[in-house]
Amino acid sequence: MDIYNVIFYVLIFIIGTLFGSFYTLAVYRIPKKQDITHTHSYCPNCNHKLGILDLIPVFSYIFLGGKCRYCKQKIRPRYFIIETLSGFTFVVLAYLMNLDIYAVTDEIAISGPKILEYIFMVLYITFVVLMAVTEKENRKIEKSVSVYGIVISIMYIVYLCIREQAVIYRYVIFLAFYVLILVLDTITLKKYAKDSYTNGILLTVITMAIFTGVEITVSTIIYVLLIIFIYMLLMKLKKNSKENRKKIGDKDLNKTLPIGFYLGIANVVTFFVVMICGNLVI
Ligand SMILES: [Zn+2]
Repeated sequence: MDIYNVIFYVLIFIIGTLFGSFYTLAVYRIPKKQDITHTHSYCPNCNHKLGILDLIPVFSYIFLGGKCRYCKQKIRPRYFIIETLSGFTFVVLAYLMNLDIYAVTDEIAISGPKILEYIFMVLYITFVVLMAVTEKENRKIEKSVSVYGIVISIMYIVYLCIREQAVIYRYVIFLAFYVLILVLDTITLKKYAKDSYTNGILLTVITMAIFTGVEITVSTIIYVLLIIFIYMLLMKLKKNSKENRKKIGDKDLNKTLPIGFYLGIANVVTFFVVMICGNLVI
């Protein structure tokens, strides 16, 4: 790899850490219905507004020694971890998609789609991260996240259709499913006056199928079912031991599982494994 590509991948890494920084902020604010673009970032301990120097992903954490500049309160390392992980994910994705500096500069006509494809995958991974983390914290698929998933899916389908006109027929079925679930959601919302968790999960699965394909999505669901099965089995064993018999009721079993979170992890892992190995494990 030459120096230009090293610089290119460093840039991709930096963009990835910026997205990572956005993820930590978004998953904190979305469930609270706070603005994710305009309100200033602040220290959750002393509420001091953060300056530009406090907001550089990864580096701020290192240079400030993991502490708030104003109140010296320790910053949770999860910010640093998510930012770094996100940077690496962006680099690995670019590498696996054969996106390099020459693809960007030399053959813009051919590489145009390559860059667009990369951008769409980044938007999709953003969807998975926001969905999975907010779901894990609240056991609820946030409506705004579902809507974001639908919007990028439609944009992606439009892009695919412009590139290859025959493709539209393959995606009509997904769009029909979207409409069906949204109609169902409106009906259940009127009847029971609450958000439907199942509908949120179904919308997520459709978005997954559009971006990662039906095969990967089916594998994802199989993996998640396996996880649920193992979890139930373990719970059953736990329940049978005398100590826990009274603590866990049957109804709690399903409620405590973050299915959206597992779906997200299984989907992204399967997607990367398929990109690396070229085929499905299951
Ligand atoms: Zn502070």
